[in-house]
Amino acid sequence: MPASRNIILSIRDLTIEFKIPRGILRAVDHLNLDVYEGECLALVGESGSGKSVMAHAILKLLDPNEIIRSGSILFKGRDVLKMSKKELREYRWKKVSIVFQGALTSLNPVLRVADHMIDTAEAHEKWSKEETLRKASQLLQLVHLDSETVLKRYSHELSGGMKQRVVAALALLLEPDLVILDEPTSALDMLTQKFFIKMLNEIKEKRKVTMIFITHDISIAAEIADRIAVMYAGKIIEIGPVEDIFYRPLHPYTKALINSIPSIYGDISKLKPIPGNPPDPVNPPPGCRFHPRCPYVKPICSEKIPKLEKVGVDRMVACHRWREINIEQ
Ligand code: SF4
Repeated sequence: MPASRNIILSIRDLTIEFKIPRGILRAVDHLNLDVYEGECLALVGESGSGKSVMAHAILKLLDPNEIIRSGSILFKGRDVLKMSKKELREYRWKKVSIVFQGALTSLNPVLRVADHMIDTAEAHEKWSKEETLRKASQLLQLVHLDSETVLKRYSHELSGGMKQRVVAALALLLEPDLVILDEPTSALDMLTQKFFIKMLNEIKEKRKVTMIFITHDISIAAEIADRIAVMYAGKIIEIGPVEDIFYRPLHPYTKALINSIPSIYGDISKLKPIPGNPPDPVNPPPGCRFHPRCPYVKPICSEKIPKLEKVGVDRMVACHRWREINIEQ
């Protein structure tokens, strides 16, 4: 269950396209999503499903060839897409921060960790250096780093896991209301991943910060999220509390994602990879975008786009056949 019923971020009818030489690529397709204050919402999907594009749009970080075709992104009632440059400066990092994909390379190699903290604070706050370093030390301790040593280090003097924790501490420095973590564990080994997730759970508990956690790995999402939203071809196809999505998935794609999780102890030959490839976002299949890969496909699936419909408390699914499929099993 979300920690509160207050909506902090509300995305409505968001459509984002890119102009590429081959045509128009629709990365986000009439998407609706609410994020509740204090929750961790995991956005899960294969690469190219639109997760990162949507995350960047929440901060209005747009590529020159990116076009917002429709929609609004309301943060505490204010439309981010209509914010002026000055408003955006106030909003980014102070209200909403992001740990980018590939964060391990995002530290400047010629700056010490302390300089990163001071530069970030100076760009947005009127804190003294001492104040910034005091806050930075507390955050580094929160992410289980020896602050005194780490503040003096350059990025090449830190391991991958340490760099990732420094970047997480930087994202929290200005005490934002919402932190977006874009595939924060994908470059980490399995043990460091586990540790990083444990640490995020502690931060969530202690700081009550709202998080959007983006990942292609639904098993990692299950370890941190309160709710999971599954994305496919720019749309949310299922959303609900983590236990429901993980143990009682309704959408065939969510079921397929869960069946494709490798188990450390299980028989690898029993793994069921999802057949076929993700759809071409320039020429997506008609109707349900998943229909060429779906084992339950019927003629209606290629004729009509299924709507995301409410199917229970905090539960929505976009599939014409979700009732029959889940009775059959
Ligand atoms: Fe499968 Fe049809 Fe449901 Fe799409 S709408 S997921 S093709 S059953």
